[in-house]
Amino acid sequence: AEAAEDGITWGKAPCRYCGVGCSVLVGVKGGRIVSTKGDPAGPVNKGLNCIKGYFLSKALYGKDRLTTPLIRKGNRMVEASWDEALDLIAAQYKKAIAEHGPDSVALYGSGQWTIQEGYVASKLMKGGIGTNNLEPNARLCMASAVVAFMNTFGSDEPMGCYDDLDLGDTYVLWGANMAEAHPVLFSRLIDNKLKHPKVKLIDIATRRTRTTKMADEFIAIKPHGDLAALNAIIHVILRDKLYDEAFVAKHVSFKRGKENAPYGLKDKEAFNETPADVKNLSFEEYKALMKPYTPQWAQKVSGIPAAKIEELARVYGDKSRKVNSLWTMGVNQHSRGVWVNNLIYNLHLLTGKICKPGENPLSLTGQPSACGTAREVGTFAHRLPADMVVMNEAHRKKAAGIWGVPAEKIPAKVGLHTVEMFRAIDRGELKCIWIQCTNPFQSLPNLNRVRKAAQSRKAFIVVSDIYPTRSTELADVVLPSASWVEKEGVFGNTERRTQQWFKMVNAPGKSKEDVWQLIEFAKRMGHGALFPYPEKGMHRAIFEEYRKFTLGTGKDLAPYGTYAKVRGLRWPVKANGTETRWRYTEADDEHVAKGEGIKFYKAPNNKVSAWFRPYEPPAEVPDRNYPFWFCTGRLLEHWHTGTMTGRVPELRRAVSQATVELHPEDAKRLGIRNRDQVRITSRRGSIVLTAEIGGRGTPERGSVFTTFFDEKKLVNEICIDAFDPLSKEPDFKKCAVKVQKA
Ligand code: SF4
Repeated sequence: AEAAEDGITWGKAPCRYCGVGCSVLVGVKGGRIVSTKGDPAGPVNKGLNCIKGYFLSKALYGKDRLTTPLIRKGNRMVEASWDEALDLIAAQYKKAIAEHGPDSVALYGSGQWTIQEGYVASKLMKGGIGTNNLEPNARLCMASAVVAFMNTFGSDEPMGCYDDLDLGDTYVLWGANMAEAHPVLFSRLIDNKLKHPKVKLIDIATRRTRTTKMADEFIAIKPHGDLAALNAIIHVILRDKLYDEAFVAKHVSFKRGKENAPYGLKDKEAFNETPADVKNLSFEEYKALMKPYTPQWAQKVSGIPAAKIEELARVYGDKSRKVNSLWTMGVNQHSRGVWVNNLIYNLHLLTGKICKPGENPLSLTGQPSACGTAREVGTFAHRLPADMVVMNEAHRKKAAGIWGVPAEKIPAKVGLHTVEMFRAIDRGELKCIWIQCTNPFQSLPNLNRVRKAAQSRKAFIVVSDIYPTRSTELADVVLPSASWVEKEGVFGNTERRTQQWFKMVNAPGKSKEDVWQLIEFAKRMGHGALFPYPEKGMHRAIFEEYRKFTLGTGKDLAPYGTYAKVRGLRWPVKANGTETRWRYTEADDEHVAKGEGIKFYKAPNNKVSAWFRPYEPPAEVPDRNYPFWFCTGRLLEHWHTGTMTGRVPELRRAVSQATVELHPEDAKRLGIRNRDQVRITSRRGSIVLTAEIGGRGTPERGSVFTTFFDEKKLVNEICIDAFDPLSKEPDFKKCAVKVQKA
């Protein structure tokens, strides 16, 4: 608590919603949050909040908060005590493990978990139960970014930071509608643009949006066209010698991986790029491989005129410009998401525009702790804390040492990734799944298959949440959770900023925080000894244990107490307690600005990898029967599946339902007028949405767009569950549909 006025006590916290990680001040009076406001001391947002942050307090006070555990009795859910609910869950998990082994159970969590919750989940599943069947919903949003960070730099998370939005002069957005999905960051960028006439914003996208309205240039691109356009830009940079020869010689090695990998449309369709698949290339060999990717060829595939591709190459190659690339789901939720991430890094590596103030690639995140919880503490099925992986024996030994378990307890076999985890329910292979802090039965692709599997009761399903959702309706046990400042926690945002907050109000009824739920379950499973944390100071103790993983790795965190006093610190935190703004630079400020003193400390010989990534077509393309592209995304007022923002009256009034955006010429041809009902049908499902023509977004001709926040319109029934072979992240951005007036 920082101040008191009018009986209101103000405390600091990161915003509950998006990966921007704004600082907010939370006003508490009479045991209730009465207000939130942008924190002027917050370095991320400098006092600003978007509309969601402005109404944040109301997200906790919807009339239908879950307040007591519920157990399914036939078609009814009946109230139960915590002991009854937890005993039942433990009995079901024990039975499944006894009959089918530990890989028959799973835990599905979230980039909205706190770092403490994610860490405990990882320790319980991997070090206690002995299965790697643990996944965060970040598989649906950041997995492609993670793989590309690892295979390019040897370490996850960006070298740049938000200061680059103030210091650069050129910003290229690759399929990112920042104005709606990262609004406060976008205002920071626009602020820079308004102050400095040289600043240029280029919006490359399949749809005109509010971001486009503020851009200097909009470049329309076909779905999947980024893979072609990026290769062609690189072609021109190489052809015209626009690259930074000294930087390339010092810091880049060229590689080629395995190609023609399947998109995972068939169950258990496995693919991994192992070291044996990777071929080292000389710069000359790489240049030769890039020769066929001409701008003229890319024009046909991407829809971007060849002359414009040449221009973009010169933007990246212009030594007088400080160029930044920004991207998020448009690149990650892509059947070649890793490759597109790799190619964006190639642009910056070839031109040396990296690790310098105001000159970086920046992969934006969607959830408040997609970095902290989903990535840093090891909640993916292949990961352990601090960039370690279950396949590596030394990593398993280190984790087991800190956890106090035998090394052989942690399985070397990678667990089920998200899409396979839910397909395994359908196949009858997964017997128990516990879902915390996320809503997969609204957010997964090919949703009809997933929901039907759950309805068949082939698996025992537990859902912990704060409100009834489209997932709780399918559960055998529903557990009421404490939310945000009803508990203590830590989040990690896009720019490696670790932000802590304290509990400020009690959770309603019998609600309990997720970390308590997991530890009580662990006790019943015979793993209570893994969690010897004191009741008072539990969050500090968990964080300090996790921190041991980070020390000396280049991802070093500060002691817990430090975070209690500040608005976050960007890791690696140095020995003197100061944060790191630009990663991989160790020289003084003057040298950093010149790009000198760069040390890619996780890359052999200080050289990171530029990958040759060829063009390959998408998993599904429009045809005579399904002639339109279908794309999903976000909008400003609602967040994810609308579980919280849907309870805020002001946000619900602003946007009450999902609509489908059409290009005016397509609408005219189909006889569809604004507000008409339109049926969208794919090979997987069919939904009816209200048409929006000439609204805030306009897709290119031949494409339609909708949002996924509306729980009454399960738009993900339409989406294909093809996924990137390397990251296993599904492609929510493109599939083929037909569009008819309903
Ligand atoms: Fe919260 Fe994101 Fe809005 Fe900032 S931009 S107030 S973090 S939702």
